Amino acid sequence: MLKVLKFGGTSVGTLERIQNVAEIIKKIKDDGHDVIAVVSAMSGETNKLIEYAEHYSKTPSEREMDMLLSSGERVTSALLSIALNEQGYKATSMSGREAGIYTNNSHTKARIEEIDTTNMKNAINEGNIIIVAGFQGVTLEGHRVSTLGRGGSDLTAVAIAGAIQADVCEIYTDVDGIYTTDPRIEPKAKKLEKISYDEMLELASLGAKVLQNRSVEMAKKLNVNLVSRSSFTPEVEGTLITKEENIMEKPVVSGIALDKNQIRVGMYGVIDRPGIASTIFTALADANINVDMIVQTRGADGKTDLDFTIPRTDWEVCKKVMSQFKEEAEKIDYNDTICKVSIVGVGMKSHTGVASKAFSALANENINIRIISTSEIKISMIIEEKYAELAVRALHDAYDLDK
Ligand code: ADP
Ligand code: ASP
Ligand code: MG
Repeated sequence: MLKVLKFGGTSVGTLERIQNVAEIIKKIKDDGHDVIAVVSAMSGETNKLIEYAEHYSKTPSEREMDMLLSSGERVTSALLSIALNEQGYKATSMSGREAGIYTNNSHTKARIEEIDTTNMKNAINEGNIIIVAGFQGVTLEGHRVSTLGRGGSDLTAVAIAGAIQADVCEIYTDVDGIYTTDPRIEPKAKKLEKISYDEMLELASLGAKVLQNRSVEMAKKLNVNLVSRSSFTPEVEGTLITKEENIMEKPVVSGIALDKNQIRVGMYGVIDRPGIASTIFTALADANINVDMIVQTRGADGKTDLDFTIPRTDWEVCKKVMSQFKEEAEKIDYNDTICKVSIVGVGMKSHTGVASKAFSALANENINIRIISTSEIKISMIIEEKYAELAVRALHDAYDLDK
């Protein structure tokens, strides 16, 4: 079998942990499998590099950020390869460029356009274990190094698994699978044996960082057998992320996600004329800002209030964009003490009363809901950040997810 393995930041967080990863890889190789391992930067490394840049600038050039941030995973890939070589295993590290990962020009959130698997195939045929530096590629046009967005090593692994038609893509992290909610918040959370791509995609997009959302999207598209498991307990079976039809039992609610990385932008007393929303949201989209929840409330005198949420990381850019609408509104403000809690489940499609149960659960804890949005398989609510963990536990209880 050809296996693509991915080891996240904590799994390669120290020199000892890298040795532990080498042991996992050696065992899989000894069992007769071919291995491509994708690695993250050592934990905390990417944040440290971002802080270094922020020492000089609040809005550093994205091109330079990619040069800087891509270095973290290169360090780990070389170290792991050196460790394996020393123990008599043929291994070779590859940067994103060497692995043939080509992206568009959106520096710091580049999209993978194509993967040229020639180098990887040759190295495998020569008996090598390949260690790929995750989270990075090279732009098709400028031939410059690019990165894939935070948590992007998951995407590297899934994209390679899809392109090279690996038998499985195993994402090794510090928990042994996908739980009904973050087990660090709710110790009663239960591990799922399987979860559908769609539910996992929602959970990941709504804040469960155990898998990066774009990697799940790609896994679904390319039909990759995706497994989430732990490098700390590699003997324990993880969670399989698979097609909905492969899952027999479909609970109404499968999981709860929490996102603390959103901020709320409020525009008050906006002149209520046709085209105003389009103008604002087009400007934000042009600045590559991902607007999430939007509510418009009717005010008096032909004026309206507009509230929406954006990722915290886009705050500075958003302020710049919004400055051009100063004249359009009486006031624009930003609230960064909010968070988003969401419940996700494919079973919601065919059940009623799911939403009211969530609202009651929060009401019982005296938690005020600011914004609500729903889709076929999810309900999201914006609340005060200080109630985040309480809300997650209350919802987990309300749907009996520990049972
Ligand atoms: P890595 O560094 O390996 O990429 P991450 O820190 O990105 O790991 O993701 C793993 C973390 O995701 C876990 O430590 C856990 O706290 C968190 N997490 C959030 N939601 C879930 C969930 N539903 N199931 C499991 N882990 C979750
Ligand atoms: N090192 C990058 C990050 O911290 C990518 C990754 O770990 O997946 O976001
Ligand atoms: Mg991660």
